[in-house]
Amino acid sequence: MPSSTEKLTTHHNFIDGGWVPSVSGQTFENRNPANTDDLIGVFQKSTAADVSRAIDAAKRAYEHWRLVPAPRRAELLFRAAQLIADRKEALARDMTREMGKVLDETRGDVQEAIDMTFFMAGEGRRQYGQTVPSELRDKFAMSVRQPLGVSAIITPWNFPMAIPSWKIIPALVCGNTVVFKPATLTPLSALNFVRILEEAGVPAGVVNLVTGGGGDVGSAMLVNDDVRVVSFTGSTEVGRIVSEKAAPSFKKVHLEMGGKNVIMVMDDANLDLAVEGCLWGGFGTTGQRCTAASRVVVHERVYRPFLDRFVTRARALRVGDGLDPGSQMGPLVSAEQRETVMQYVEIGAKEGATLACGGHALTTGAYAKGFFHEPTIFADVSPQMRIAREEIFGPVVSVMRCQSVEEAVAIANGVQYGLSASIYTQDVNRAFSVMRDVYTGIFYVNAPTIGAEVHLPFGGTKATGNGHREAGTAALEVFSEWKSVYVDFSGKLQRAQIDTADL
Ligand code: NAD
Repeated sequence: MPSSTEKLTTHHNFIDGGWVPSVSGQTFENRNPANTDDLIGVFQKSTAADVSRAIDAAKRAYEHWRLVPAPRRAELLFRAAQLIADRKEALARDMTREMGKVLDETRGDVQEAIDMTFFMAGEGRRQYGQTVPSELRDKFAMSVRQPLGVSAIITPWNFPMAIPSWKIIPALVCGNTVVFKPATLTPLSALNFVRILEEAGVPAGVVNLVTGGGGDVGSAMLVNDDVRVVSFTGSTEVGRIVSEKAAPSFKKVHLEMGGKNVIMVMDDANLDLAVEGCLWGGFGTTGQRCTAASRVVVHERVYRPFLDRFVTRARALRVGDGLDPGSQMGPLVSAEQRETVMQYVEIGAKEGATLACGGHALTTGAYAKGFFHEPTIFADVSPQMRIAREEIFGPVVSVMRCQSVEEAVAIANGVQYGLSASIYTQDVNRAFSVMRDVYTGIFYVNAPTIGAEVHLPFGGTKATGNGHREAGTAALEVFSEWKSVYVDFSGKLQRAQIDTADL
């Protein structure tokens, strides 16, 4: 198979251990968002028929894979983790080229896939159950994890390798097989990841890749009765559709969706540190992280000095091609994404917020062929404004005032999402009480809203998630089910709750 550094023009689906074209005969292009003249490759525009083939292959492979002992499954994953590590730089470059974020960040994305794969491979020797005393004599009681079967994996474009790894690797270590549909904007990183799994020795049919649109490929996965678990990361809007479509066949559905994350800067905060955090949280990945700090709530006593420093630093950010080592912020991923940002800039201005910096698309000179936009800060934002409530998914930060920590918490909790929140304060009592009172899945003290590590649960509350978590051992809960096992070695019928053991 070709390596990630070789330039292929046409890429295929991976079904039942072979690289095959879609039955549709149709393809779509993948172009560099920093320079649309750069055609990265052509990928299969697949249909429901391709999905059906992939699911059939995954179903057949499951009968073998589920019986491979988990520590042996894990050996393949250790090998895959090492292969990703060996190719980290080439994989990161491919990723920057196809989705735009700066190289440091795509290296981080690949590193997350390495960390997750090593971590989950370790779970091949754990997957602990419980052994408990039975209430009856001569009876043994325990619980074991069992896989579910075929898993449908649907992922977004903002973490093109990390997010697939968060889902595919735990699915595999638990003994499930996979049909993977990546975002149409980042199929190359998905393909690179699957190639590595193939090279590591994952058997035919255990992992299948089908590229194409959500309406065609994604939908077909949701209505197929042979799919038992769906793991989706993407927008709340599409997550709701996924949930509804999967419900009639009672699939297990794991959803990670939108966010409107908040950094609270209190009057005793180290302001320089808070400004650093807000820059990284707000403009890292061009604001296109589910955990992006798109809201900053600042105590009125430090509002003005904070805002002045934040604006000065945001203005100085170097926007450019992510492959250029001098760039600190890359382009938006697509023309549509930049259009959304521009619309929200208009909305913010109409709502009466003060445009403190930025606010324009960058369209001339070196920016002419990409989807660049200035880092943008709105000040004097009120919590009711749309720019303070809706996910923008771009380099736009809304700064609000508060008069107390209680008001900051009320603003933090006052949106439909609940992914990540953070507080900058030197007061440990305040930090702990806010940690308790903010209803999110992730919380930081004196650090921005981004920076999750793979061995802790990741996910959000309310419209961000549906109660599951990925990463950490929590991911095992998504990709396995409990089986409680009772072994009666008394040689007679013992009726639970009716017969009692003698003292
Ligand atoms: P999206 O919802 O548009 O697409 C996500 C995936 O779903 C893509 O693969 C897409 O092709 C597919 N899809 C679209 N319509 C579908 C349908 N009808 N049926 C099945 N699949 C369908 O999201 P996006 O633009 O790729 O990513 C951005 C969103 O993802 C943001 O809202 C962001 O907050 C969210 N996100 C959340 C997390 C998290 O962990 N909470 C992480 C990263 C991104």
